[in-house]
Order: sequence, then C-alpha cells, then structure tokens
Amino acid sequence: MTDRIVIIGAGYAGMMAAAALDREGVPFKLVNRHPYHYFTTLLHEAAGGRGAPADYAVPIQEVVRRSGELVIDEVTGIDRASRTVRTAQQGELPYDWLIITLGWVPEYFGIPGMREHSLVLTNLETARDIRAHIESQLHQYLDDGDARHLRILVGGGGLTGVELMGELLDWLPGVCHTLGISPALLDLQLIEAMPQILPQLSGALRQEAVQVLSDKGATLRTSMKIVKVEAGKLHVEGGEVIEAGTIIWTGGVRANPLLEAAGFTCDRRGRAKVNEYLQSVDDEHVFIGGDAAWAEENGRPLPPTAQAATQMGPVLAHNVLARMLGKPMQPFHYHNRGTLASLGADRGVGDMMGIGVRGAAAALAKEASKVKYLLELGGLRLTARKTKEIVTLA
Ligand SMILES: Cc1cc2nc3c(=O)[nH]c(=O)nc-3n(C[C@H](O)[C@H](O)[C@H](O)COP(=O)(O)OP(=O)(O)OC[C@H]3O[C@@H](n4cnc5c(N)ncnc54)[C@H](O)[C@@H]3O)c2cc1C
Repeated sequence: MTDRIVIIGAGYAGMMAAAALDREGVPFKLVNRHPYHYFTTLLHEAAGGRGAPADYAVPIQEVVRRSGELVIDEVTGIDRASRTVRTAQQGELPYDWLIITLGWVPEYFGIPGMREHSLVLTNLETARDIRAHIESQLHQYLDDGDARHLRILVGGGGLTGVELMGELLDWLPGVCHTLGISPALLDLQLIEAMPQILPQLSGALRQEAVQVLSDKGATLRTSMKIVKVEAGKLHVEGGEVIEAGTIIWTGGVRANPLLEAAGFTCDRRGRAKVNEYLQSVDDEHVFIGGDAAWAEENGRPLPPTAQAATQMGPVLAHNVLARMLGKPMQPFHYHNRGTLASLGADRGVGDMMGIGVRGAAAALAKEASKVKYLLELGGLRLTARKTKEIVTLA
C-alpha cells in the first residue's frame, strides 16, 4: 500500500480516524498544531481550574503508536490541484488521500470589536488565559477597588457559555475568600440574544438550568443583543453600555477558514459539503469530518458536536481505506445520544436518548462521557492511564 494518507487536525474526528488507521497498521501522517489532543467539551473545567491541563488532554503519541507519524505544525493551506497540504514549518506535504478534521473557530457575526476585545474558549491555552485574566482582575480590584474588575460578562447562552458560567460560579467564591474579597461583590452576567438559553434542550430542562445558575449567583440576560464591544465595554441594543474587566465570547462557531480558502463548496458557517460517505463533493481524494464538514441526514445539516465528530472518525478512516483498496465505502449515519450541560461540578441538565436528566446525575453523566470517549479512542489502556504526564502548553 503506497498511497499517502494525511490527516489534518487532531480533534475528536481526526483522532478517531487516526486511531482506526493506526490499529490497522496503515501508514499515515497526522498534522496538528499541538503534540497533545485536548477535550474541547471539558475546556470550561480547565478555565475554572477544576483540574490540571493534563486532565483535559492526552499526548497524541499515546494513540498514534504504530503506523502513524505525528507532524506538529500549523496547516496554512490546502492545494487541491497539486494535492499538497502547506504547513508553516515543514513546507508542503503531498497526499493521495486527505482527511480534513480542522474543527472550528469562533464566529463573531460581524459584531464590531468583539474579536479584538473579548476572550474565547477554544483550546487549553485560551482556557488558561481566561483563568489568568480573571485572577489578574481580582488582584487589580485589590489594588484600586474598582468594582468593574469583579464583573464578568459571558456572551452566548449555548452549551459553552452556560457550562463556562457554571464553572466560574463554582470557582470564584473560593478565590475571593482567599484574597479577602467578598464573593457577594462578584457580578457574573450571561448575555444571550435569543429569548432562551440552551435551545437544544426542552423548556423544563432549560428552566432548571436558569434556576441553578441564578441560585449560584449569575444574572441571566436573555433577548439582549450585543451590538458593539470596546475595551472593557459591551454595548447592547437599546443603548445600554456594560463595563466589565472580563468579556468572554462563546456566541457561535464556524468551520476552520482553510476550507473556504481551499475553494470547497461551503455553507454559511464555512463547513465544506460532503456526501453520505463524508467525501468532499468537490474532490474525491478529500474526506472531511467533525465541525469542518457540512454533512446532512434526512436533508438536514448535522449540528457541529463532539458526538458527531467522534462518530465520523472511524467512517473517515474506513472510507479512505475502501477507496484505496477499491472496496465499497460505508455511509455515515449519526446516532444522537443526547446533550448534557454541566452547571458546575455538582449539577447539570441534559437529555440522554430522549430522557431528561438533571442535578448531580447529569453532572456525573457529563464526566462519564470523558471516560467513554477515552475508551473508544484508546481502549482500557488509555482510560486507565494516570494523568501524571505533563501536557506542556506551547
Ligand atoms: C466548552 C465546550 C463544551 C462543549 N460541549 C460539548 C458537548 O457536551 N457535547 C458535544 O457533542 N459537543 C460539545 N462541544 C462542541 C465540540 O467540542 C466540537 O463540536 C468538537 O470539538 C468538534 O470536533 P472536531 O474534531 O471537528 O474538531 P476540534 O475538536 O475542534 O479539533 C480540531 C483540531 O485541529 C487543530 N487545528 C485547527 N487548525 C489547525 C491548523 N491550522 N493547523 C494545525 N492544527 C489545527 C486544533 O488544534 C484541534 O486539535 C463543546 C464545545 C465547547 C467549546
């Protein structure tokens, strides 16, 4: 087998594809900007310091152990005509078959100043940045007594914003106590343009989330549209200007812009269109998965979730191999197992296979999803691994 397979992006979809190829002993290159694979679905925990970075990532080489070669580099472009991937350090990497699993970037919806003046939760480094920024704001409050340092605005009431808010509400009172600041002075606001948060959940579960976050001390401001951001100032429709030491944006995602730049047929969120085999409709030598893929089932686009990305990985690997060997490809079918949102360490809400879960059971189920994922990715060996490995952030 001499065909060159290149996977770009070691997120959920890329890692699951890589693990499947590695198990088969098929040679491939996996290009990723970090030597580790982080669990995006738990980044809010890293931001709130629930665990160490090593709890939210695995070294890629623990999964890619046999036939895969890890290339730590930044992908800067895809040239379909010459079948090469451009990288920042190592130049051009030729491929015969390309698997694109580059994930997502924040979607700012053109809100002026949002990109420049907000923090985002996209990877372990930005999680660490959020944490460090909030801590420095608390210290500045001790220096100058300006209450704006104690105000944190989270824009976006989807899964990321809600889970991050839950985590901050758990973490910050303890930090305040340690520093001698009254936790009652904290002002945490979740701002959402739609009339409700967590649109993917039922009304009762949404209400539960609102109640838990409010009880823990958050102010939930729905039907409130952010129209402009300046340094430390958030402007909302109607003219109100909210001043805050910390502004975090979790309001939307779009696919990695390298897909549009490479000329793929993309939807309005920049995701590249694939057929039922997760093969690009523009290029039979390219397979695309995870948040980068515009995949449809029953005529409806699949939502960008880790759940879908994880399920796509093995199908991507299977179908590349099938094409190489001239065997039939396997169609991708999404199995929606539900959605879980943690509301801090002890509470959560969600639906599992259509059944509503709440409270500690939902929080536990969210934690259990990490173990389940590690089991799928690397079997018992990966699940049982101690978190002693130091994941060094670049
Ligand atoms: C806080 C939070 C909570 C979430 N909770 C859930 C949940 O409970 N359930 C759920 O299903 N989904 C959840 N999601 C969404 C989920 O995380 C994404 O849908 C998922 O990460 C998409 O996986 P992916 O494989 O497409 O890409 P990603 O996981 O985004 O991985 C892409 C990889 O590509 C790498 N990369 C990107 N660009 C380059 C480049 N130019 N060069 C080299 N490498 C590059 C990145 O470093 C990364 O390793 C959550 C998201 C967040 C932020």
